[in-house]
Amino acid sequence: MRIVLFGAPGVGKGTQAVKLRDQLEVPHLSTGDMLRAARAEGTPLGVEAGKFMDQGKLVGDALVLKIVEDRLAQPDCQEGFILDGFPRTEIQAKTLDRWLEQHGVPLNCVIKIAVDRDIILERLSQRGRTDDEAAVVAERLEQYERLTKPLIHYYAERGVMYEVDGVGTPNEVFQRLLSVCQ
Ligand code: AMP
Repeated sequence: MRIVLFGAPGVGKGTQAVKLRDQLEVPHLSTGDMLRAARAEGTPLGVEAGKFMDQGKLVGDALVLKIVEDRLAQPDCQEGFILDGFPRTEIQAKTLDRWLEQHGVPLNCVIKIAVDRDIILERLSQRGRTDDEAAVVAERLEQYERLTKPLIHYYAERGVMYEVDGVGTPNEVFQRLLSVCQ
């Protein structure tokens, strides 16, 4: 299974991706986690990415695509994967399509987890990550609206776009996801 979990910051993509990973036994690829790890290691890529992350801005496509392509080349990704937080721009989506085409495999579904903005703001204010500070959150939501949300049309045209209600307990949301994926 090749799944993209889609949605604004704070809708629960990471929580659900871990549950799906355990259920489907395919790796969970979170570009946010990869970038934070690169940053913690102090690699040049991580340091560069950190400047954008601190401001709530998307990291440049070239940099993100480099880490994603390296990760997708690993043997554990050949049977499938759950992408969390990628793609976030049209260039990223097109690059993923090229990868899928080259490997002769389909994208099974793109699932948007839908949560109202006031609930997102409440959730993010409780999470306590350094990029969860109010001004940075506002910028992250703005970047989502402007650069990432248009991908809904991109995937709807391909017939792989689904939406689930992200309000409820993690298990309730997970059951909704499973009913879409299977
Ligand atoms: P996340 O953990 O998915 O919320 O990502 C945290 C931050 O990492 C984002 O606010 C961006 O700065 C950066 N980031 C993660 N994934 C991407 C991506 N696919 N494209 C660009 N920037 C990203």
